[in-house]
Amino acid sequence: MWNRLKFRLILILLAMAGLAIYWFVSQKPVGYTDRRQVLTTTIEQENELGLQAYAQILSQEGENVVCSGNASSCSSLEREILERVQAIGEDLRLAAIAYEDELIASGEPVEPKARDFEWTFNVIQSDQPNAFCLPGGYVAIYTGILDVTGNFDGEVTVEDVVDLDKLAVMMGHEIAHALARHGGERMSQGKILQVGQIAVGVAGGDQRIMEAFGLAAQTGVLLPFSRQHEAEADKIGLELLVRACYDPREAPELWERMGTLGQGQKPPEFLSTHPSSERRAENFREWMPDAVSEYVARGCPALSGR
Ligand SMILES: [Zn+2]
Repeated sequence: MWNRLKFRLILILLAMAGLAIYWFVSQKPVGYTDRRQVLTTTIEQENELGLQAYAQILSQEGENVVCSGNASSCSSLEREILERVQAIGEDLRLAAIAYEDELIASGEPVEPKARDFEWTFNVIQSDQPNAFCLPGGYVAIYTGILDVTGNFDGEVTVEDVVDLDKLAVMMGHEIAHALARHGGERMSQGKILQVGQIAVGVAGGDQRIMEAFGLAAQTGVLLPFSRQHEAEADKIGLELLVRACYDPREAPELWERMGTLGQGQKPPEFLSTHPSSERRAENFREWMPDAVSEYVARGCPALSGR
């Protein structure tokens, strides 16, 4: 009995050690920040999956995709919104290319992606306050988020697309996720942990060990990483904003507003992994002086007083 237990324990430890090595050798530098990330996928694979998912979402949304070939109508407000989103997207695309060039010139280990992404910007008619950028540069903005990035009066009107800095904050953040390959990282983590879960389960010879490992991996590894991704996307997003001459000081207020949305109602799925608003506000306070001086140094229009 004792010997069998010892044998199982050694097998589990071996499985964990193998897993740790696999995790370790799959690390690559993020490049935009000092962090290293687990990646077992290639950029091409990630972009291909991004395109597939995007095509699927757009086809599911059908005529909700504003002013698309399937849309039954295209009002002047919708046309206006789509054009604004595409204009911000173009600004951020150029900012991302400039940012990558700067990082590469200063010796950072960045794999340039912004030039090769097939940047696509669509607006989807929906009450959901949501937005995303999939690997490969496939962006969707749900109209439900425009009031949050606009005047926050509870309805989406033309006034919500007058002042666009907060929308740019949101888009910059989502684009930053794609540039930093957070999707590929999550897939890679998932794959390694799945292999690990099976290995540990087999080594332990017990279903419960496998389940316990799965739960520990979920809360101990994946959740902290998803919070880290959010902070990283906030930081990279700010870099893009100032390079595109959008007011970086709008970022804290936007995320504060997003934070209030979760209260009372069920928060949108992507909010639940976003960091606490206190932590986020603290980060922005730390980064803002540099962001503002960068904005000024680039000769952007003078910032309004506050
Ligand atoms: Zn995010």
